[in-house]
Amino acid sequence: MAQFKTFDAHLLRSVPLSEFTKHLELEVDGVSRFGFVPGQWLSVKAATPEGEEMTRAYSIASPPSENGHFAFCLNRVQDGFMSNYLCGLEAGAKVEFQGPFGDFILRPALRDTLFVATGTGIAPFRSMLHWLLAEGDRHQGHEFWLLFGARREQDIYYREEFEHLAAGHDNFHFLPTLSRGDAEWTGLRGYVQEHLPEIVGARTEMHAYICGLDKMVKANRELLKSLGWERASIRYEKYD
Ligand SMILES: Cc1cc2nc3c(=O)[nH]c(=O)nc-3n(C[C@H](O)[C@H](O)[C@H](O)COP(=O)(O)OP(=O)(O)OC[C@H]3O[C@@H](n4cnc5c(N)ncnc54)[C@H](O)[C@@H]3O)c2cc1C
Repeated sequence: MAQFKTFDAHLLRSVPLSEFTKHLELEVDGVSRFGFVPGQWLSVKAATPEGEEMTRAYSIASPPSENGHFAFCLNRVQDGFMSNYLCGLEAGAKVEFQGPFGDFILRPALRDTLFVATGTGIAPFRSMLHWLLAEGDRHQGHEFWLLFGARREQDIYYREEFEHLAAGHDNFHFLPTLSRGDAEWTGLRGYVQEHLPEIVGARTEMHAYICGLDKMVKANRELLKSLGWERASIRYEKYD
C-alpha cells in the first residue's frame, strides 16, 4: 500500500459556529505553502486515551493560501472520539494529518452550479466558493447557488461571509433554508431538496455538488435524477 507523508500542523485558533460546531484554523508546520484543490479533505490521526490510533476524514473549509494555513468546520458527534478531541483542542495544540485526498472538486468545464449542503457539509463549499469568486475569470458567465439547510437561524454557519459574497457577486445566490425557523424568519423553509425544483427548473445542463450525511445526499441525488439529470452531473461527498 502506498505510504503517505504525515504532516504536523498546529491550531491557531478555534471559533464556535454554534453550540456543537467549531471553525478551526490551523497552520502546517515546516512548509511555506500547503497545496490542495478546493473540495479535498485531510485524514487526521490521533490516539485515544487507551492508546488506540484513530483516523478520520475532514474537508478543508478554506481556499488554498500562500502561507500554509487551512481551516476545518467541525461538528461534535455524540460519543465520537475524533470530533470531540479536535473541538476540545487549545491554540498551539499539534494535529497530525495526511493528505490532501479526494476528488470532490470542481470539474471543468465550469457550468452553472448548484451547491447543496447541510451542517458541516458546508466545509468544502466554503473552500470552493471563496476560491471561485476570488477572480472574475474563474466564475464570470455562470450562475452559482448555495442551498444550505440548517435547523435554526443560529445554525447558518458562515452566514455573514456568504451574505457578503452574495452582495458582491450578482451571479452568486446564497439560499439558507431552515427546518425549524421561528416566526420572524423570512427566508426559505423546509429541507434542501424541497427547493431544488424551483432553482434548477427545466435545466439539466448544470453541475450539482452535494455534501453532508448519507440520507440528505441520497434524497437530493434522487430528486435531481427524477428531474432528468445525468448521474455524471451530480457529484457528492458523504460524511457518514
Ligand atoms: C470525506 C469526508 C469528509 C468529512 N468532513 C467532515 C467535516 O468537514 N466536518 C465534520 O464535522 N465531519 C466530517 N466528516 C465526518 C468525520 O470524518 C467523522 O466521521 C466525524 O467527525 C465523527 O467522528 P468521531 O470519531 O467523532 O465519531 P465516531 O466514533 O466515528 O462515530 C460515533 C457515532 O456517530 C456516527 N457518526 C459518524 N459520523 C457522523 C457524522 N458526521 N454525523 C453524525 N453522526 C456520525 C457513527 O455512526 C457512530 O455511531 C467527514 C467524513 C468524510 C468521509
